[in-house]
Amino acid sequence: MSVQSMIERWVRPEIRALKAYHVADPGKMIKLDAMENPYTWPEAVRNEWLSCLEAAQINRYPSPRPETLIDLIKSEMNVPDGADIILGNGSDELIQLMMLSMQGGAVMAPTPTFVMYEMTAKFVDMPFVSVPLTADFDIDLEATLALIESEQPALIFLAYPNNPTGNLFKRDDIEAIIEAADGWVIIDEAYYAFSEDSYIERVLNYDNVMVMRTVSKVGLAGLRLGFLVGSPEIIEEINKVRMPYNINVLTQMSVQFALEHHDILQAQAAELCEQRTSLMDELAQIDGFQVYPTQANFILVRVGEGEALPIFEGLKTRGVLIKNLSGHDPALQDCLRITVSTPEENAQFMQALNATLEVIRG
Ligand code: PMP
Repeated sequence: MSVQSMIERWVRPEIRALKAYHVADPGKMIKLDAMENPYTWPEAVRNEWLSCLEAAQINRYPSPRPETLIDLIKSEMNVPDGADIILGNGSDELIQLMMLSMQGGAVMAPTPTFVMYEMTAKFVDMPFVSVPLTADFDIDLEATLALIESEQPALIFLAYPNNPTGNLFKRDDIEAIIEAADGWVIIDEAYYAFSEDSYIERVLNYDNVMVMRTVSKVGLAGLRLGFLVGSPEIIEEINKVRMPYNINVLTQMSVQFALEHHDILQAQAAELCEQRTSLMDELAQIDGFQVYPTQANFILVRVGEGEALPIFEGLKTRGVLIKNLSGHDPALQDCLRITVSTPEENAQFMQALNATLEVIRG
C-alpha cells in the first residue's frame, strides 16, 4: 500500500482537508506580523536570568504543577482569591484542553477572530459556529443570542481585545452573552498588557466565565506559556486532560524570573502603547487609509481597494513583514495588520510604506 493510499484510508478527512498553520519565514526582515514584543532586557538583567538558569535540572522532569510560579502569576496578574489557574504550553494548548474536556456542544466565536478557535474545534471534531461582527467589528448581539439558543455551545470564545480587529467588545454585549450561555464563556485576554479593561478580577462573579491570558505578547513568546483562570472545580476537570509535563523547566524558571521583574515588562508594554498612538496618527494621515481603534499591540488598517497585496509585497521587498488579511474573511477585505514596534522599527516601516505607496500610486 502506498503512503498516499494509507493516508486516505486512515487520516480523518477533515484533517486531510486542512492546511497546516502557515508561519511566514521572516529571514532578516523587520518582523511586524506576529504581535511580538520587540524589546529585550537590559544586559544586567539578561545575565541574571542566564545565571538563574544554571540551576535548571534538565535531567529531571519538570514540576507538573509549579506552585511558586503559579502563586506568582496569581499575585502579579490580579487573579482573585478563590480562583485557580492551569498553565498551558501557550494559550493555544489551553484552547485544545478546554475542547478536549467538553461534550455535546459546539464551539462558538464571533468572526473574524483568532483562527485557532475554529482550527482546534476541527482537530477535536467539534462543530464551530459563528456570527459575523458588525461593520464596526462589534458583536451582533441579536444574532449571537439566537445562535446561542439554537446551538447551545459548550464554549464561547471572546477575544478581548479581539484579534485581528484590535477592539474591545462592548461590556453590555459580553454580559448578555454570559447570561444567555449554558456553557462556558472564555474571555481571551492575550493582549491584556495593552488594554484598558479586563475580566480577570471579576472572573468569579459569574458561574460560567473563564479568563485566559498568555505571556507571549509581553516579550516571552518563545517560552510558550499561557494560563486559564476560573473556579477551582472547572480548572480541576480541564487539568485532567493536560499532559503532566506540558511546561518545560526552562520555561518555568524563565517566566518566574520575568515576573519577578514584572516592572520591566510593564514598562515595555506602556512604551508600546505610546508608540501605538504615534503610529496610528501617522497611518491615519495617509490618503484612503482607515485606521481602526485598537487596545492591542497591533493596528488594523483598511487600505485602498486592491492595495493590500501590493503594499504587503512592496514592504516585503523593502525588508518589512506585516500581515495581509485581505482575501480571507470578507470583513477584512483590503485590510492589513501591523504589530507596533520600537520607534526605530516603526519609522523604518513608515519609510518603506511611503516608498511602496509612491510606486503603487505613482
Ligand atoms: N489568543 C489570541 C486572541 C491571540 O491573538 C493569540 C496569538 N496570536 C493567542 C491566543 C495565542 O497565544 P499563545 O502564544 O499563548 O499560544
